[in-house]
Amino acid sequence: MAAIDGLPPLREVIATHGLVAKKQLGQNFLLDLNLTAKIARMAGDLSACDVLEVGPGPGGLTRGLLAEGARHVLAVEKDARCIPALEEIAAIYPGRLEVVNGDALEVDAAARLTAPIRVVANLPYNVGTELLIRWLSPPVWPPFWRSLTLMFQKEVAERIVAKPGSGAYGRLALLAQWRTDPRIVLTLPPEAFVPAPKVHSAVVHLTALPEPRYPAEAGVLSRVTAMAFNQRRKMLRSSLRGLAPDLEDKLRAAGIEPTARAEEISLEKFCALARLVAGKG
Ligand code: SAM
Repeated sequence: MAAIDGLPPLREVIATHGLVAKKQLGQNFLLDLNLTAKIARMAGDLSACDVLEVGPGPGGLTRGLLAEGARHVLAVEKDARCIPALEEIAAIYPGRLEVVNGDALEVDAAARLTAPIRVVANLPYNVGTELLIRWLSPPVWPPFWRSLTLMFQKEVAERIVAKPGSGAYGRLALLAQWRTDPRIVLTLPPEAFVPAPKVHSAVVHLTALPEPRYPAEAGVLSRVTAMAFNQRRKMLRSSLRGLAPDLEDKLRAAGIEPTARAEEISLEKFCALARLVAGKG
């Protein structure tokens, strides 16, 4: 049966263009256009937004984004085999889809888009976390994007939204929750993808906060949390040794017991400690 956009079903697109999935490119495709439209809706109102999509593959999510009214989509795909299939979609939506054959780690997407911008992607697992960290760590805040709606392995999604006291809580949770509001909005079993990956997946929606939740210098906060979580089983007075000469006083001033461990400490307290270390407490 033809889809709502008149284009062939994705299985046919894959067969026509010989898009046999390549593991080294993290290719696990979504073929259900109802599901890709649902993910597109989770990104919020797209009609007044430009969208950056990383790794469109055969274009299932791209078609969802366009059908849900995205003003303009920039689709960055590393695999040249997918480009003809994506150009067929562009022809159905004149002027609304720009396809770039390149590596998302190298393409300057912000320069090609007009605000407001949303990022929506079923990310290649091998570069997903690196891209997220880059999007969360721009030189200035707020960033070029308003929201990120991203598919990850479920275990990574849980690390993004984790709270203190959980084994998943760490640097990724602190970075994400410092500058955004992250929520898991959908979980998917392996069978939702072709080929099926070994693990469950989840979509995380992150809304950029106008300014970080608590004041701190990004570089200092990053150094403090790296030291704390690199030895997460150790007491902070030991894992943070060398951070400051009067470390235990600073920990107490931030409301942290020197004998506590990293995974017990809230974002607010890490930010207080980062300010004290920077001499701005
Ligand atoms: N969006 C499609 C979907 O939902 O069916 C495909 C998702 S698949 C998990 C990841 C896609 O990212 C693949 O098409 C792969 O070729 C592409 N990809 C992998 N590494 C990339 C990179 N560095 N830059 C851009 N695209 C990349």
